[in-house]
Amino acid sequence: MSSSTFPRMIIDIDLLAYNVQKISRLCHENGIELVGVTKLSVGNSQIARVIRQNGADKLGDSRLKNIAKFSQEGIAGPYQLVRIPMLSELPMAIKYVDEFLVSMPQVVYEIDKIAREVQRNVEVIYMVDVGDLREGVWFEHAVEEIYEVYKNLTFVNLKGIGTNVGCYGGVLPTKENINTLLSIKKELERLLGYELAVSGGSTVTLKMLEEGKLPKGVTQFRIGEGIFLGTDATGDRDIPYLSQDTVILEAEIVEVDQKPSVPVGKIGKDAFGRTPHFENKGMRKRIILAIGEQDVKPDGLKPIEEGFEILHASSDHLIVDTTKSEKTFRVGDVVKFRMSYGCALRAFTSPHVEKVIVNG
Ligand SMILES: *Cc1c(COP(=O)(O)O)cnc(C)c1O
Repeated sequence: MSSSTFPRMIIDIDLLAYNVQKISRLCHENGIELVGVTKLSVGNSQIARVIRQNGADKLGDSRLKNIAKFSQEGIAGPYQLVRIPMLSELPMAIKYVDEFLVSMPQVVYEIDKIAREVQRNVEVIYMVDVGDLREGVWFEHAVEEIYEVYKNLTFVNLKGIGTNVGCYGGVLPTKENINTLLSIKKELERLLGYELAVSGGSTVTLKMLEEGKLPKGVTQFRIGEGIFLGTDATGDRDIPYLSQDTVILEAEIVEVDQKPSVPVGKIGKDAFGRTPHFENKGMRKRIILAIGEQDVKPDGLKPIEEGFEILHASSDHLIVDTTKSEKTFRVGDVVKFRMSYGCALRAFTSPHVEKVIVNG
């Protein structure tokens, strides 16, 4: 670890395992299958293996490349592609993906055709939009469309239906929207004559499970954020029985100084086209960290130090007002942050942020 560079993320694999164990126990006690969604970690096989070995029944990822990599590196599936597929990736996807989330007849027919050609058994979960306005057939014509698709399938198995909330519209899972999904399931089961799976949740739905408020009939959760961060962005909470210290970001101080709180000179826009505003608070103690928009989403940084006020971030510099902190900082010191989901996503995908896996 001593030879590593900054900024870096410390990923505690034991805490990650702990979070998966907790979530999987909660799911399994309620008869729910857990898909561990790995998309945050950009195809890191060690992380995927830990998630799979500590209670996830399947691995889900939004990027086919990551799934192909896991498969080639011997990480146990089955694999679910959590993004509705591109037509262009289907010929490759059919080799690695076991379960597709789908939302259009044309796409299902293409999967059916290719799967038949290569004789590989894959399953599809038909997404239903219960109001969040991202993917899925609109709930009012779901039964009709899905039944029609079912009748035209020649090879692939229509395993069930699913939904997504909290993504575009920020719609929260409720008894009402889950019951909408469950009534579609019931009606389809009557038409199809077999039992359907219901993929009904992500991290934000855990709360209903904890409180015993999830209507009976949901059979699968797809969870990413809760496992990685122990937080629920849509529900706006730290999940109390999970660790929030699984992933910690570290950045190095490159300048320590005292400067006025208002700039000197005529004010234009900043490097990102924003017009800055300043309040005169007199002279302030400040540090500059060698981290910026290229590494993280600065507004999603959660300082672990008390008394940090993040003033501004540009591509490579983060300015922090430390006047309220009792500590003395020196150039070369390293400071730590927790991160929001969006910030962690940027950090994981940034080639500038070193990933260090500890414990395990
Ligand atoms: C990312 C994703 C999930 C996981 O959501 P979290 O909020 O990270 O638990 C589930 N389903 C789909 C379709 C996704 O894209």
